[in-house]
Amino acid sequence: MPALRPEPRPGVLKIKAYVPGKSDAPGAAKVYKLSSNESPLGPSPQAVAAYHAVAEHLEDYPDGAATALREAIGRTYGLDPTRIVCGAGSDDLLNLLARAYLADGDEAIHTTHGFLVYPITTLGAGATPVVAPEKNFTADVDAILACVTERTKIVFLANPNNPTGTFIPFDEVKRLHRGLPPHVLLVIDAAYAEYVRRNDYAAGIELVATSENVVMCRTFSKIYGLAAVRLGWLYGPPHIVDALNRIRGPFNVNAPAIAAGVAAMADSAHVERARAHNDRWLAWLTEEIGRLGLDVTPSVANFILIHFPGDQGKTAAAADAFLSARGLVLRQVGVYGLPNALRMSVGCEEANRLVVQALAEFLGKA
Ligand SMILES: *Cc1c(COP(=O)(O)O)cnc(C)c1O
Repeated sequence: MPALRPEPRPGVLKIKAYVPGKSDAPGAAKVYKLSSNESPLGPSPQAVAAYHAVAEHLEDYPDGAATALREAIGRTYGLDPTRIVCGAGSDDLLNLLARAYLADGDEAIHTTHGFLVYPITTLGAGATPVVAPEKNFTADVDAILACVTERTKIVFLANPNNPTGTFIPFDEVKRLHRGLPPHVLLVIDAAYAEYVRRNDYAAGIELVATSENVVMCRTFSKIYGLAAVRLGWLYGPPHIVDALNRIRGPFNVNAPAIAAGVAAMADSAHVERARAHNDRWLAWLTEEIGRLGLDVTPSVANFILIHFPGDQGKTAAAADAFLSARGLVLRQVGVYGLPNALRMSVGCEEANRLVVQALAEFLGKA
């Protein structure tokens, strides 16, 4: 019998809609948003100026191919611009990949504490998310490979991962790739690549360049401080770029975003400042919060995962309430299977010091 009203495809109603990080703290005099891994330095002033300049011509359609932006990215990273696709945030690109490569009955693998957009986009495409267990809050290549079946079409790997901040070395990424059948697409989501200071890390460019079944997604939302404009890019083999260019919105990246992105790419000094700030405060926060007796998962990104004891009132929820009352807004990560942890973005110096001070008070150690 036909349905009595329009029904979404199976899977859509299984989705738990993504809940973004809170940005308010009712009652607090000043709010420090540390819940969405945004840059405490903001964007390059040149990116803001470029954005404003385009505002004079909002009647014009953007360049649907985002040519200037793809060329700017190509110059910065030494990549062929024809192998780059830009999107309205990397979320847009992840959705395009799911739409192009997943169908009803297919499976897509992500890891236990993997980024929530992966199961959302998988279900939205009618496919089934399969969860590979992690070890020490870190992706486990053998566990991922053990999940592969003939129905597997995509493996989503955030490297570094959000919300854990952990990464797997490039040798391990290559071992994962070697273990995958050639028809399985490996999506390396390197949203935090610019922050990583480890010799054994690589974002994945080399693997994309030498494979037919690997793509790397990047974003302007994190170190470039342009989360509001929604801008991301993907580097992939020509056949995948071709498929994505067929299904993407013809003007999926807006003109002010393209202009801001081009200017942001040119301002490498700004990126370096953001990186240096993060180096200093990531290490400081990890050390100081660890000293309070809380476990902090070692992070290579611009945020940390803080674990609470969970008993005697020292729960993540209680800590969140305590911090929020002081205007310090962190991220609860229960939906990531981490009910007793909070994720904290590295903030400005003032915010970082206030969080450590408040946590000391919360634990009765001030
Ligand atoms: C923040 C983040 C992104 C970026 O998303 P945008 O849509 O580009 O803002 C992608 N992947 C992960 C794992 C992230 O944490």
